[in-house]
Amino acid sequence: MIVAERKGFEEIAASLSGFRKVLVVGCGTCVAVCLTGGEKEAGLLAAQLDMAAQLAGRDQVFEVACVERQCDREFLDELAARAPEFDALLSLACGAGIQFLAERYDEIPVLAGVDTTFIGVNDNVGVWEERCRSCQSCLLSTTGGICPVALCPKGMLNGPCGGTADGQCETDPERACAWTLIYERLSRTGRLENLARLVPLRDNARASLPGRRTHPAYQRRYSAHA
Ligand code: SF4
Ligand code: SF4
Repeated sequence: MIVAERKGFEEIAASLSGFRKVLVVGCGTCVAVCLTGGEKEAGLLAAQLDMAAQLAGRDQVFEVACVERQCDREFLDELAARAPEFDALLSLACGAGIQFLAERYDEIPVLAGVDTTFIGVNDNVGVWEERCRSCQSCLLSTTGGICPVALCPKGMLNGPCGGTADGQCETDPERACAWTLIYERLSRTGRLENLARLVPLRDNARASLPGRRTHPAYQRRYSAHA
């Protein structure tokens, strides 16, 4: 899932200055799971903005909407009747969703209410941890299902740096070195020979921006863009 964090209230309120009628748009998928931008969080933020505006004597109105996924046109269409009534849309989706909302409602200012942080997992109740940097050359088959790109602060691809000590990371002694974890997992699964495989330098050509992928079954249909 994509993990995001809500921007500070002051920053959000400042970005809305000058807009009288604002629709706070939540997203029902990743940002809802990480308790940042779902329907409930959109409602709470709208109430907080409303109260702050009233206390400051500002004439502002905040309403709430939530779609299943802001990164999907089909769901953005649900706002078609409502969105034009507003001076601005405040999106609580990830960066991709915010951009898609802005693209769909091109005539209306769209503002970001969250900072997108990483692709991660739900490690515990209320705790998320980064697990993938979408490097486009996945190494997990070789590294025992543990990602050195995301879990090693130096992104070491071929074994640990010289700073690992007693299995811990030199940048944070509270954390296991990613390469210790990789070694232990490969050892447990009888695949230590993987450590002898040299991971080649990253092919940066594959990571050219912006990424675009067409499913093979649709390549003829979109041949102009495939
Ligand atoms: S190697 Fe790591 S960063 Fe790259 S795709 Fe796999 S999990 Fe993601
Ligand atoms: S100690 Fe391990 S996890 Fe930490 S930076 Fe070095 S190789 Fe990466």
